[in-house]
Amino acid sequence: MKTRTPRAKIIKKPKKFFKKKPNLENYEKTYRKFKWRDVYKEVAWLGHRLNVAYAAMDCHVNTWRKNKVALYWEGVEKSKEFTFVQISELSNKFANILKSLGVKKGDRVFIFLPRIPALYISFLGILKLGAVAGTMFAAFGPSGIKDRLQDSAAKVVITDDTLKKRIYKVKRELPDLKHIIVVGRASGKEINYEKEMARASEKFRIVKTKQTDDAFMLYTSGTTGKPKGVVHAHKALIQEHMTAKWVLDLHGDDVYWCTADPGWVTGVAYGILGCWSNGTSSVVYEGRFNPEKWYSIIEKYNVTVWYTAPTAIRMLMAAGDHLVKKYDLSSLRHMCSVGEPLNPEAVRWSLKVFGVPFHDNWWQTETGGILIANYPCMPIKPGSMGKPLPGIKAAIVDDNGRKLRVGKEGNLVIKPAWPSMMKKIWKRPKKYKSYFVGNWYMSGDLAFMDKDGYFWFVGRADDIIKTSGERVGPFEVESALVEHAAVVEAGVIGKPDPLRGEIIKAFVVLRKDYKKSEKLKNDLRQFVKKHLAGHAYPREIDFVDSLPKTRSGKVVRRLLKKLVVGEKLGDVSTLANPESIKEIKKLLQK
Ligand code: ATP
Ligand code: MG
Repeated sequence: MKTRTPRAKIIKKPKKFFKKKPNLENYEKTYRKFKWRDVYKEVAWLGHRLNVAYAAMDCHVNTWRKNKVALYWEGVEKSKEFTFVQISELSNKFANILKSLGVKKGDRVFIFLPRIPALYISFLGILKLGAVAGTMFAAFGPSGIKDRLQDSAAKVVITDDTLKKRIYKVKRELPDLKHIIVVGRASGKEINYEKEMARASEKFRIVKTKQTDDAFMLYTSGTTGKPKGVVHAHKALIQEHMTAKWVLDLHGDDVYWCTADPGWVTGVAYGILGCWSNGTSSVVYEGRFNPEKWYSIIEKYNVTVWYTAPTAIRMLMAAGDHLVKKYDLSSLRHMCSVGEPLNPEAVRWSLKVFGVPFHDNWWQTETGGILIANYPCMPIKPGSMGKPLPGIKAAIVDDNGRKLRVGKEGNLVIKPAWPSMMKKIWKRPKKYKSYFVGNWYMSGDLAFMDKDGYFWFVGRADDIIKTSGERVGPFEVESALVEHAAVVEAGVIGKPDPLRGEIIKAFVVLRKDYKKSEKLKNDLRQFVKKHLAGHAYPREIDFVDSLPKTRSGKVVRRLLKKLVVGEKLGDVSTLANPESIKEIKKLLQK
């Protein structure tokens, strides 16, 4: 494998960025002295028991934060505020409804709702009862719903009067599903959320769960195959609390906006739990991505800390700098990104237009919390994911688990266990076991570490392109393409080739003001050749309107490859834009 010495220009952070003293002031020193025990002490316990809903919400009710706003909800048609005590009482009510339905500790209760307050209230209510909370994107169709409710044997699902139809399409195949709670108009045997909430008691004694009891489950994004039901224990909160404090740098007076939907792990760990356990006010926007609307939310609520994903950042870049100038975004003091590799260009752009850079961080559904990050106190090397959290030992190893030298590409692994490490994969013990090789947790991602201890993402192990005896990660080719003025984003794969093993093929989305042409394809090839390496340029380029993406916004290279090779596509339930598949199929038939 290649040895790499990245020559990234380190980004110096402007003074504005340090409006506040970072919670983590000295990374190296903290890393050396760190003990998990200290963080365990920081989180609120119920006697000697730990319950996520208590530690994230109810613990604030007996403090000065009682009447502080916990949730600024920006709906599509209206907006509303909820204080910590209000969310606490409303989630008590929901726990009482579930109790009256006979839901017991350990039962699975799934939420199938848009980002409305009931989603956040019911999530905590489920945990208060000791039941296991599961979430699903509101955009899922019947087959995605069936897979998850069937696999988890969910007993109750909470949905709304528009979405419920999709559950009925598959209800006959869900023998374990006993109750459907409906926000809005309910009929027949359904339970009406508003009616039951109105009469339920706002007092509830939280079930004293052990820190190792199941708390919530999330299906992975399904980028590499069928989504897996990853189960997290209550102690996952320990890590989510600490990382929200050190990586997101949440302070008492911050207004924080996590754009992720709770159907994805980021929306749960950092859109509900880590922010609230730190007592921070959080913004939730019900609607879809729209650059103007997003900027107007930052302006309206004076958002200070913003956590989003590369796909959104690339779309904001494409929407143009003039839009940014239309809004007063001066409240922003810290910004983070997760989910996909963050192109260096996006880091530089954010510093230019917002005056503060995006800080990339890396983690997975299975890891339950951030493990590698760029911290406020540390210089950023654009393109790098940063350094492992205090308490986390990360390394690069070969396929047999042997550690590799600095600069060598290999498997990114973590030393087990950390508090938010998945507890199990639902009904798939063998799959769970397969993550652990030797003394390591195998992430399935390839990376390398530089001499300063920064980690650099290369690609998912399955996405690596082998061309003319060289291994090329799609990310670096995509990032080189994104640096070209004409390109919004790109998906790069290896296309089988009799001569070279594979050749690099790129699917490219252009900015609106650029025309598709053979000349532009040539320009792009030359551009990548010049900026990256002679062998790592895309020999084939196709222009497309959109790339297939998961609901969590990840480019699904697996599908691009299958389309090119002509294989069956397999599970596509998590796809956000099926029309992109149609477009590419048509294009490839030509
Ligand atoms: P599945 O496991 O079902 O294929 P998935 O891996 O996309 O789906 P998630 O757990 O949502 O599901 O995503 C984790 C993955 O996202 C990581 O393994 C990595 O490939 C990618 N990722 C997350 N953050 C970053 C980052 N900062 N840089 C590069 N890649 C990232
Ligand atoms: Mg994965």
